[in-house]
Amino acid sequence: MWPVSVAQRLAAGVAAVMGVAVGSGLQAQPGAAQPEAAQVLTVYTNANVYTADPAQPRAGAIAVRSGVIADVGGAAALLGRHPGARVVDLGGRTVLPGLIDAHGHMTGLGELTLSTLDLTGVPSEEAMVALAVARARALPPGAWVVGRNWDHERWPDRRLPSRAALSAALPDNPVFLERVDGHSAVANDAALARAGLTPQTQAPAGGAILRDQRGEPTGVLIDNAMELVGRVIDAPAPPVEDLLIEAQRRCVRAGLTGVHDMSVSVPVAEAYQRLEAAGRLALHVNVYLASAYAPEYFAQRPPTRTERLHIAGAKAYADGALGSRGAWLLEPYTDRPADDRGDPYTGLAVTAPDQIGALASHAVRRGYQLVVHAIGDRGNRQVLDAFEAAQAQAQAQAQAQGPAAGGPRFRVEHAQVLSPSDVPRFAALGVIASVQPTHCTSDMRWVPDRLGPERARGAYAWASILRAGGRLAGGSDFPVESHNPFLGFYAAVSRQDAAGWPEGGWHPEERLTRDEALRLFTIDAAYAGFREGREGSITPGKAASFIVIDRDVMTCPAADIPATRVLMTVIDGQTVHTASADAEPANP
Ligand SMILES: [Zn+2]
Repeated sequence: MWPVSVAQRLAAGVAAVMGVAVGSGLQAQPGAAQPEAAQVLTVYTNANVYTADPAQPRAGAIAVRSGVIADVGGAAALLGRHPGARVVDLGGRTVLPGLIDAHGHMTGLGELTLSTLDLTGVPSEEAMVALAVARARALPPGAWVVGRNWDHERWPDRRLPSRAALSAALPDNPVFLERVDGHSAVANDAALARAGLTPQTQAPAGGAILRDQRGEPTGVLIDNAMELVGRVIDAPAPPVEDLLIEAQRRCVRAGLTGVHDMSVSVPVAEAYQRLEAAGRLALHVNVYLASAYAPEYFAQRPPTRTERLHIAGAKAYADGALGSRGAWLLEPYTDRPADDRGDPYTGLAVTAPDQIGALASHAVRRGYQLVVHAIGDRGNRQVLDAFEAAQAQAQAQAQAQGPAAGGPRFRVEHAQVLSPSDVPRFAALGVIASVQPTHCTSDMRWVPDRLGPERARGAYAWASILRAGGRLAGGSDFPVESHNPFLGFYAAVSRQDAAGWPEGGWHPEERLTRDEALRLFTIDAAYAGFREGREGSITPGKAASFIVIDRDVMTCPAADIPATRVLMTVIDGQTVHTASADAEPANP
């Protein structure tokens, strides 16, 4: 329990420093400067601080001035060194560096509350259809029903949905519902008709149109085939700025102070720039453009790197996802060894490997960072090969022009299924494995079906990558998974679901320690975004971004980690979120 007096003292201190009403959070324009107050030195005392800085891992107090950490140490020492400072007593609470999600989708998170039908946790196809019908009733006649986050692996029969039930229930509204991984979708007849998709339509490269025994589309579209319908959807969307602000509100409540926003369009990148200029961007965001925009964008301008906004990278896709059997494997799928023609089925190459190589080289030449989605063991190997070739070129360029700051820092997004021989290549090539621990605990029940027991051992092999000297970065892939970083922290250290299954953890040899898990969402995520000099740890000289939480996640029973509540989020010295420990817990 947090004594009311402590909460009040905390609130009073914060209000005095910030000149804003506590709890008003982002409505108070957190980006707006407060010059006089910002000069004051504030010491946050009586705190149980984990700094994520090996030079001084623990502390009892933090001194902040002008949005920057001025001093870190014991409470008595800091108060002695800084007489006359404003004091905020944190009541013995635990403090962590502001957490960073190295892979999320901000507009998708905003849509989840503002526009899309949220199918998270829906227990059956019938329940999904019922939700779609309810949504259609609230819309004008004939309007699109767009939803996401169904997962047939959680349904009783674990069968993919089809257009049949959706078409019968909603003959007049086109319906397009994406699976939780965003790599497949089901469309009804009205949607297929609007897209002009007939039994004769062939799937584009890197995509699949699933068909029944008569050769008719089932309504399920995979990877690049989703665009056949996706491009004709004309549902009214909320303004991009509204989506980003809503996502930002949810992120800071969850304890995130930084996000790497993946597969962003140029209009969304420009919306970020407008928000920053208007003082409305509180989060530190690294924008990774969708690869389709990258060649032109790279050619036209150098990377942007301000304190809050980096537009300095792009994301490409090597393959699809394991749940949709779009991940590109070296050997056929265990549970679908052959395709419709009887040929060995190993998944989908979404982007040709030579195109990835060309994009990597282009990025290096222009000072941008390339990150590539790869899930299957073949997808991962192809990406590592492409990075290896571009790396050689980067070294030649560095010899000619002097080294680029920090090297190219190529990243593999997900790095889910690895051939054992590829694990050491992450360290050897300096490639970062950007992993999402909750993907493991969401997928672990059916991963052995797709891969068989032998390959499953090389899946989500976080500890193996670290032991081989490699570097990880942690994220959630929100809104595919929850943006709550404590769910990822819990999955990383336990490899168990929320109910504690399986006992001891799934392939427990790949669990991380709590220190490693903390690095995943702090300093290593910062490094993956070229920000380790300014954030990712509680270190003098870095941005004053930290969170106060209601329990000590570094020592509490693992089962208690998922319910962690964020009582305060501070970004650049500004308090952008506060919550009372006694109030009703809310989904961040
Ligand atoms: Zn993603």
